Amino acid sequence: MDVDVKGNLRKILNELPDGVRLVAVSKYHPNEYIMAAWEEGQRVFGESHVQELSRKVAELPNDIEWHFIGHLQTNKVKYIAGYISMIEAVDSMKLLREIDRQAAKHDRVIDVLLELHIAEEETKYGLTLDACRSLLSEGEWKELSHVHICGLMMMASYVEDKQQIRNEMMEAANFFDEVKTTCFADDPKFCERSWGMSHDYPIALECRSTLIRVGTSIFGERVY
Ligand SMILES: *Cc1c(COP(=O)(O)O)cnc(C)c1O
Repeated sequence: MDVDVKGNLRKILNELPDGVRLVAVSKYHPNEYIMAAWEEGQRVFGESHVQELSRKVAELPNDIEWHFIGHLQTNKVKYIAGYISMIEAVDSMKLLREIDRQAAKHDRVIDVLLELHIAEEETKYGLTLDACRSLLSEGEWKELSHVHICGLMMMASYVEDKQQIRNEMMEAANFFDEVKTTCFADDPKFCERSWGMSHDYPIALECRSTLIRVGTSIFGERVY
């Protein structure tokens, strides 16, 4: 292994304040690297492709908590509904409904985050703040008993400008407060703010992140 996974992981864990958890993003990295992190005590891993995740789940220890962090197609929910710990990037009522339906078949409640689109970059994924407000105020989500909305997730723009990144993350943090007050005041489980990746997690820690999703800084560059 030519990457010091254990050393990299320890360094990041040492920087984390209380109340912040690390999702080790292992997509495109081999089982050997995941096992090195696992041996250091890491249990939460993030993947973004259903096929790759399914293969890894079959091969790796079953005490791993898998977070699905990528865009999830509705027709693929069924493949991961039996075991996934958290689906982080939910951006439509249609997807939420399907997660609920598949979770029910497994007699589970699946934790999810709503993905916000705040970055300047063009992407088809994520809810604008207004779209997120509408989804929540329409209220259908309250009738879904097999999904639990635990917070918000976002990716900041991929730019050098730290102030821009900070502004976007603070916008997400402030929006979290709004939604917490208007829709989840009585739900202590609505507490997660998932932002921060390898290049910007130190900023995320200043912007009230509770989950950072870090791959490259732990496992090295991905080989696609
Ligand atoms: C790949 C990925 C990450 C990790 O990115 P790094 O730059 O390798 O830390 C975080 N979040 C999402 C949604 C990703 O797809």
